[in-house]
Amino acid sequence: MDLEYTPRQQAFRAEVRAWLEANVPREPLGSFDTAEGARQHRAWEKRLDAAGYAMVPWPVEYGGRGADLLEWLIFEEEYYRAGAPRRINQNGIFLLGPTIMEYGTPSQKARFLPKIASSEEVWAQGWSEPNAGSDMAAIATTALRDGDHYVIRGQKTWASRGAFADWLFGLFRTDPASERHHGLSFVLVPLNIPGVTVRPIAQLDGETGFAEVFFDDARVPVANRLGDEGAGWSVAMSTAGFERGLMLRSPARFQDTARRLVELYRANAADAEERVRDEVIRCVVAAEAYTLETYRTVSRMLAGGKIGAEASLNKIFWSELDIRMHELALELLGDRADLLPEAPAAEGVGDWLDAYLFSLSGPIYAGTNEIQRNIIAERILGLPR
Ligand SMILES: Cc1cc2nc3c(=O)[nH]c(=O)nc-3n(C[C@H](O)[C@H](O)[C@H](O)COP(=O)(O)OP(=O)(O)OC[C@H]3O[C@@H](n4cnc5c(N)ncnc54)[C@H](O)[C@@H]3O)c2cc1C
Repeated sequence: MDLEYTPRQQAFRAEVRAWLEANVPREPLGSFDTAEGARQHRAWEKRLDAAGYAMVPWPVEYGGRGADLLEWLIFEEEYYRAGAPRRINQNGIFLLGPTIMEYGTPSQKARFLPKIASSEEVWAQGWSEPNAGSDMAAIATTALRDGDHYVIRGQKTWASRGAFADWLFGLFRTDPASERHHGLSFVLVPLNIPGVTVRPIAQLDGETGFAEVFFDDARVPVANRLGDEGAGWSVAMSTAGFERGLMLRSPARFQDTARRLVELYRANAADAEERVRDEVIRCVVAAEAYTLETYRTVSRMLAGGKIGAEASLNKIFWSELDIRMHELALELLGDRADLLPEAPAAEGVGDWLDAYLFSLSGPIYAGTNEIQRNIIAERILGLPR
């Protein structure tokens, strides 16, 4: 294994760093779970895209720059290092995009990928339903064939950023007689058509980016199906693999939190117990270990491998590490831990509380950690169901 960067990779890093230093907004953008914040984030995405940085590993014709996944990891490291805005279209760029790349027809690629790259079309993810969460094979929303259209009826819920999204991708039951993971298809649905109602859900922090989506005989062309009819489950598993195993939470995110945690420790070291210092060090080491593990996954993918069940190990690792780091931060802040970002005395520390609350959802979204442990038990360790 060669852990050195090539001259080409170093030059790429320098170029990305210089661009981000010159272009990242000085003032943080509003939250993308608010209407104004969503607008600001879309504008930022447009600038990224214009500079060719929306999704560097995609082919140039689809809005990328034909970089490899190692360069994408470098880009991510620089992106977090620069404190650049969170990606409002993360469902599109990190999850749907790679899935279209794998399963899309040439016309689907040409139609959807450039608008994902520019975030002209922001995507929501539509798996969960009121009675289908962990048990995703219980999906009941139907998409029934009527000529060259599907007629969709039912409900999705917990669609992140759904309130401000333009499109939703998800699994729908195209064979009404089917059961479990058979008879499902992966369909791309515009959210602004008749028969679709998007209703925002207030989150713990009061913002309303989350949404439930109701389908009341909404008509979508059959051409919006990704992959074969009835084969949606395997398409969705590919999307979930990208989500848990690589793209949604790149290691740079956790390295960045670890770096800020060290700064916080230094600023509060005088009052901190030795135990806290040791735990901070363990988090730094864990973030580095996750980074190296991701480099290994990417090297394997570059050699033609695929992300498999080990994505579940990743997902548990990053979600639990994220909580640990934020708990430590609150411990270091002591009495100030409860301050919201807008509190007069917060002086920048309030973001830790906000991020701590979000970290608590890590073991739930992208498939709960209990479900990931089931997958590890059955598919990696070969234990009985
Ligand atoms: C911040 C956030 C963002 C989300 N974004 C989206 C999104 O964009 N799109 C989307 O479709 N969904 C999204 N979700 C929903 C998420 O995928 C579901 O919440 C998750 O899959 C769990 O489903 P559930 O809430 O119905 O809980 P349930 O499935 O009812 O689970 C309840 C509890 O039982 C446990 N459990 C269930 N089955 C088993 C089992 N077989 N073995 C052991 N334990 C089990 C679970 O681990 C959990 O602790 C999001 C959730 C959160 C918190």
